[in-house]
Amino acid sequence: MDCIFCKIISNEIPSVKVYENDRVFAFLDINPLNAGHLLVIPKAHAETIHDITEADFVAVAAATHKLAAAVKKALNPEGINLMQLNGKAANQVVPHLHVHIVPRWSGDGLTICKWELVAGDVEEIKAVGEKIKQAIE
Ligand code: AMP
Ligand code: ZN
Repeated sequence: MDCIFCKIISNEIPSVKVYENDRVFAFLDINPLNAGHLLVIPKAHAETIHDITEADFVAVAAATHKLAAAVKKALNPEGINLMQLNGKAANQVVPHLHVHIVPRWSGDGLTICKWELVAGDVEEIKAVGEKIKQAIE
């Protein structure tokens, strides 16, 4: 399969690895938003949240929790953003699921995860909530 992150896992493409276990691999992003920007990925190829197994997603979440603690200990950021993008419309570029761990410092100038709060229509919010509740399996 022609997947850049699968090739990183198999060592065909070099990376700066920080952690791996039987299900998960983690390495530094090559275009870091800040120092210590990590990517946590499942070893089994899955493009998005809709393709990954629950067990692999749980493993990615557990590794993310462990690595966020390591980033905090190593770099002492004032905050950490976790990001996980699914699909082109959500700005996913690499089609192998990954969680970004981005250390943050106040005044670091990053514009990510900043959005204007605009109050929604309460009836519409309730209606969409009902629709989602009905779809839970
Ligand atoms: P996304 O928009 O969530 O799909 O982000 C993909 C991320 O993968 C970007 O932050 C890239 O900098 C990163 N990336 C792409 N290729 C590599 C690579 N070879 N090694 C490390 N990070 C990479
Ligand atoms: Zn892959």
